[in-house]
Amino acid sequence: MASHTPSQRYLSTRGGSYGLSFEEVVLKGLAPDNGLFIPQVIPTLPLNWQKDWLNLSFEELAFQIFSLYISPAEIPSAALKDIIHKSYATFRVPSVTPTVTLDSDRKIHLLELFHGPTFAFKDVALQFLGNLFEYFLVRRNEGKTGKDREHLTVVGATSGDTGSAAIYGLRGKKDVSVFIMYPTGKVSPVQEAQMTTVTDENVHCLSVDGTFDDCQDFVKALFADPLTNTTMKLAAVNSINWARILAQITYYFASYFSLIRSGILNPSTSDIRFVVPTGNFGDVLAGYFAKRMGLPMSKLIIATNENDILHRFWKTGAYEKSAVHGAAAEGGLVEDGVEAHTEGVKETLSPAMDILVSSNFERLLWFIAYDVYGSDTMAVEDKTQAAGLKVKEWQASLNTKGGFSVEKRVLDAAKADFASERVSDAETAATIRDVYRWPSTPGSKGYILDPHSAISVTAALRSAKETPGVDNVALSTAHPAKFSHAVEMALEKEEGFQFKDVLPLEFVGLEDLPKRLTHVQKSSGLDGIRKIIVDKVEKELNRTNV
Ligand SMILES: *Cc1c(COP(=O)(O)O)cnc(C)c1O
Repeated sequence: MASHTPSQRYLSTRGGSYGLSFEEVVLKGLAPDNGLFIPQVIPTLPLNWQKDWLNLSFEELAFQIFSLYISPAEIPSAALKDIIHKSYATFRVPSVTPTVTLDSDRKIHLLELFHGPTFAFKDVALQFLGNLFEYFLVRRNEGKTGKDREHLTVVGATSGDTGSAAIYGLRGKKDVSVFIMYPTGKVSPVQEAQMTTVTDENVHCLSVDGTFDDCQDFVKALFADPLTNTTMKLAAVNSINWARILAQITYYFASYFSLIRSGILNPSTSDIRFVVPTGNFGDVLAGYFAKRMGLPMSKLIIATNENDILHRFWKTGAYEKSAVHGAAAEGGLVEDGVEAHTEGVKETLSPAMDILVSSNFERLLWFIAYDVYGSDTMAVEDKTQAAGLKVKEWQASLNTKGGFSVEKRVLDAAKADFASERVSDAETAATIRDVYRWPSTPGSKGYILDPHSAISVTAALRSAKETPGVDNVALSTAHPAKFSHAVEMALEKEEGFQFKDVLPLEFVGLEDLPKRLTHVQKSSGLDGIRKIIVDKVEKELNRTNV
């Protein structure tokens, strides 16, 4: 049984808030001092976890893990189980996140995270977050009517990839509206259709006649606007929300147990690495929590594309926005940091990893600073304070000078748990082609990777070459149909390859379904966008409150 931390509390990485509840942290998203929320203690696993958890389903595993971070006094067990069930019943396979073996000789496995409603890994977290929002609001609104009811208005901007995961996470949720802005004509037809064919009344797609940055500016202006904030309770679902990290811890355990059950991994003799295609550091950070909790793995491998700030950090100890681009705005506040700052970012074949800085990296820095700058003789509160001060100092330097360097002992601590690999576009395409050509079961076609998964597989192959005998689990973050451009480019010359063979049934005819969207003129400004949102929320409320 899970040994409950009696009351897990949360604090900010910049030292400004502490003692917060899980609910406060989830609804706030970002701390008032601009820091990120982290749990006060990383829980350890219960005594017989390896035996007791071996045969649990994904949902049961999620329940055991979440129970270590959420006090039952905050969400009673039955309610938590219900939230988890609702979140993962939307996945197309019973195991939710299956692990398949790509190459048994080289011990390369793939943890498939794309079986959710929008065919990308963000569903694992956003399905859960949407249900949490609803649970908290419904509970706060019990017995309230009309104007007394709390209503949450989620606003975000997307360049195409992740807007749909947010929409599918929040569609039909009580007391929540969602507004997603995207640049007209600049997202692919499938991406647009994935968003605009969701016709639930609380979902609003705003097609803005501008660029992604214009959408982003609208969102920032709304969050900073006192008038908006007095009339509405705004929320964001960006990848810095703690609940998203928490949700992602489960699949590291699920994959580990799956490899043991299939006889591939021997828990007493084998070694395992997880290789994670990384942008904003949310996915791999969940792996770090799993490792700190006690899941055996020798390393987490961070695989970046050509936007390689993390890879450069692990090589040199300097965390710097690349010099050629100069200082760009710090992102992270609005939607996914992944999409929160396009200026100075290189466009690659793996757009969901195109970042200038990685917002969740701050959380890792805090844990490292806690260990490095806090001595054993210090009280926990003093260590906590020392870590917060150090993080604040690093972030200030990032904002004003575009970067910072850490001491060798900090870098050494980072290297103890992580290694890094950088993968170019050319290598990404080559891996998609190579893996497609690998002999799989006779008569069947080769495995088709999406470009993000091709990055983790490329890094896993390097790691397998350097250290043979270790099982490498590459995280596969999207279905190939979502990134048709890269896949077609890599495979167009392959005999027998037809893109339509990759297309899931859910995508066929999607573009012809009824759509629901509102066109917004960039020139309408803050007043214009505020009016659109206020009117739509009001209409929604009038309809539900009659
Ligand atoms: C968001 C995303 C990533 C990067 O994940 P982070 O948590 O931001 O590091 C990788 N692949 C795909 C397909 C994504 O959508």
